[in-house]
Amino acid sequence: MLPTAFIAQMRQMLGDQQLAQFLKCYDEPRTYGLRFNRLKMNSQLVEHSFLQQAWNLKQIPWCEDGYYYDYNQRPGKHPYHAAGLYYIQEPSAMTAAELLDPQPGETILDLAAAPGGKSTQIAAKMQGSGVLISNEIHPSRAKILSENIERMGIVNTIVTCAAPSELATRFPATFDRIMLDAPCSGEGMFRKDEGAIKEWSPESVQQCAARQWGIIQDAISMLKRGGMLAYSTCTFNRQENEEMIRQILDHYPNMMLIKEHRVWPHLEQGEGHYVALLQNGQPEEDEATSQLKTKEKQNKELSTVWDAYTAWAKEVIPHFHLPQGRPILFGEHLYFLPTTNDLSLTSKQLNKLKLPRAGLQLGEYRKNRFIPAHALAMAVKVCEASEAHCLVLGASQVTSYLHGETIAVDDKLTGWCIVAIAFSEDDAFPLGWGKASQGQLKNHLPKGLRQQQA
Ligand code: SAM
Repeated sequence: MLPTAFIAQMRQMLGDQQLAQFLKCYDEPRTYGLRFNRLKMNSQLVEHSFLQQAWNLKQIPWCEDGYYYDYNQRPGKHPYHAAGLYYIQEPSAMTAAELLDPQPGETILDLAAAPGGKSTQIAAKMQGSGVLISNEIHPSRAKILSENIERMGIVNTIVTCAAPSELATRFPATFDRIMLDAPCSGEGMFRKDEGAIKEWSPESVQQCAARQWGIIQDAISMLKRGGMLAYSTCTFNRQENEEMIRQILDHYPNMMLIKEHRVWPHLEQGEGHYVALLQNGQPEEDEATSQLKTKEKQNKELSTVWDAYTAWAKEVIPHFHLPQGRPILFGEHLYFLPTTNDLSLTSKQLNKLKLPRAGLQLGEYRKNRFIPAHALAMAVKVCEASEAHCLVLGASQVTSYLHGETIAVDDKLTGWCIVAIAFSEDDAFPLGWGKASQGQLKNHLPKGLRQQQA
């Protein structure tokens, strides 16, 4: 006999037509499910085993390892149960861990875990890697939870017996994922458990909601930034479900609702269940990881520019050698920082230091091209440049070059050239860079160094 106040509540939620359908399902038998333990079995093993037929196993649509079974076969009594090959679990209760989607290597908390359906499902998905803290507040139930964890052969789970508030003080912002299968008014279990009907009242719904709100706040405080919270109940009323989620969203602007899902016994093969998946904002890279990533990016950029310089230098100034030191990038500008065995300036030492000249400026890297700096021309000797990239000017051309003018050259001359002034028959000294193409040398003397025409 369902309580009148419960029927009134469901009428309000479903309307008359659906209510009739909903109430009719109370005359039908409940569903039975088991979930194979992926730590010991795989689905191929199940499909090829005699169990498939003997127990009339039928796949549960929302859980790969879950099957409906024929109750008369009593798999709970079979030695395979003692061997931990499967866990007897109400089919709709399998939805929450599926939605939470635990991953190997993560740090996960199951906050209200006994007798262990969701914990054993989570642990199977973690495949022995990472840590699952499986908590149950009541000691006698924590013992059953511990036995079930043991039976399933789980190696990476710590069972605790604590109030959520106690865990919250110890594990702030710790978990990648939290399962909160909250104690609730159990309306979805009425077909399975007559005791739940007797304990139900509108007041008990209020009390459950108040208790849930307390546990939720502790759970959220233990979620990492970007962490996932699966909140589930086996009840129908909105107060403990959708309204609880709205309350979370109102109080915690960071929390985002990712998905909500209900299993209705009159629409699907399973008892009543509700689950919501929430995320605690976007994941934050921890500082060390983000610093490492920045460093990696900087190193990659530096090596691209450095490679461009060395390839360019090999062709244009093949005999020029840099002193002991290391290349350093300031934006697009490549410098060569001199070092000794006693002094090798670090980025930290240089940080925010005014540096009018950070060693020798080698050049710039723009549009995938290396452009040599004037400072490099002044540091190179003519004999260090390739003959094909050196132009010693006559006296009148020197004046034109220093004025910043384009100079007519042999059209065999191409690319970057050291532009030099002759000193003696054998000696010449660089004035700057020019770039030759089709009989013209484009002047690359910096504008600030160009001499005014008389
Ligand atoms: N997740 C379990 C599973 O899949 O097997 C079922 C959990 S059951 C729905 C809710 C659990 O919450 C019960 O084991 C109950 O003892 C526990 N509980 C009751 N009051 C609690 C409280 N104030 N804080 C945390 N857990 C509580």
